[in-house]
Amino acid sequence: MSSQPIYKRVLLKVSGEALMGSQGFGIDVTVADRIAADIADARRMGVDVGIVVGGGNIFRGVAVASKGGDRVTGDHMGMLGTVINALALATSLRKLGVDTVVLSAISMPEICESFSQRQALHHLSQGRVVIFAGGTGNPFFTTDSAGALRAAEIGAEALFKGTQVDGIYTADPKKDPTATRFDKLTHAEVLEKGLAVMDVTAVALAQENTIPIIVFSIHERGGFAEILTGGGLKTIVAD
Ligand code: UDP
Repeated sequence: MSSQPIYKRVLLKVSGEALMGSQGFGIDVTVADRIAADIADARRMGVDVGIVVGGGNIFRGVAVASKGGDRVTGDHMGMLGTVINALALATSLRKLGVDTVVLSAISMPEICESFSQRQALHHLSQGRVVIFAGGTGNPFFTTDSAGALRAAEIGAEALFKGTQVDGIYTADPKKDPTATRFDKLTHAEVLEKGLAVMDVTAVALAQENTIPIIVFSIHERGGFAEILTGGGLKTIVAD
């Protein structure tokens, strides 16, 4: 397989769960450093990288709602969690000498820049890794949807979803040993089969904007670079 990337600009969605490592909560810095090393490889290959980070390792809005609290406040807490993760990943990238900027959908100018499409495109054109924090900035959405949204806004050729397993399976491969991985699916098939890889809003947005979704394992060192050259184990969702 060639070591030349087949993509010029991508959006990588990193879930909060991925940053948690084997802990039950929060950020495992060793894991954040490892994921950052993969992102640094992508930059060395000349690929423009935007990243949307999740927040599930810190807080999910539904946790407040399920205990009778206000969902919107819970979602605000969740979005703030994504900012903490974004700062952690930016720190890991900067330790590796990767020029990185955090743009938040919720303004907090003392901490990071505010998101605008113009600033995102500017930073990417300067060779910076851009981490999008704060999800979409709206309650009742997820960071998967933010991933599809930012991918469309920055003109990413593909939305990479780094997960715990190396693609989309017929069933959870950790629970069902007979589960098999799909090599390729259409957006419509993902929606019809109700495959729980990204939420419906995210898949529909990617479908509408003809953005392929590539699902791969975030936990293999060097895996992201391999996928960027067209190799590696993955499921491609494209029409
Ligand atoms: N969230 C939100 N709007 C968004 C993105 C996220 O309200 O646009 C909140 C929501 O409460 C969610 C939490 O932030 O549960 C963490 O995001 P997500 O669950 O997508 O994180 P991940 O599962 O990727 O770690």
